[in-house]
Amino acid sequence: MQDSDCLFCKIAKKEIPADVVYENDKVIAFLDIRPMHVGHTLIIPKQHYVNMLDTPEGALCEIISAAKKIAAAVVKATKADGFNIGMNNFEAAGQLVMHTHLHVMPRFKKDGFEAWMGKEASKEELKIVRDKIVKFL
Ligand code: AMP
Ligand code: ZN
Repeated sequence: MQDSDCLFCKIAKKEIPADVVYENDKVIAFLDIRPMHVGHTLIIPKQHYVNMLDTPEGALCEIISAAKKIAAAVVKATKADGFNIGMNNFEAAGQLVMHTHLHVMPRFKKDGFEAWMGKEASKEELKIVRDKIVKFL
């Protein structure tokens, strides 16, 4: 299924150009036009899903498997020191394009980007939320 209004579906169907680095029958990967560093690559299922929660496990396996292969190539091509894999789910988490995608972001020593900042939590808070999460699993 594809969504006729979805930007990434249009890229998957080659209706909109993109710098494609990898493609198979289920997955396509292309450069992010607003990269964290040049080489930042997006990996999407060709089928339209909105985010991780509505994406079948098989399709998730296909994108993460492609991500492993692509990350190795991105690191070599950009001479990166490391890489982040990112996935924003829902607007509150920074998702701008509502078509499931993984980010592969090359990273360099002292490149100025920080990992997300943690904050202190009490043992009690952790226990309460752990028990709630466990109930939903
Ligand atoms: P997210 O915030 O996780 O939804 O990320 C969406 C990403 O898509 C952003 O990093 C954008 O820079 C990128 N993006 C938006 N339009 C395009 C496009 N036409 N081609 C490639 N990347 C795009
Ligand atoms: Zn789509």
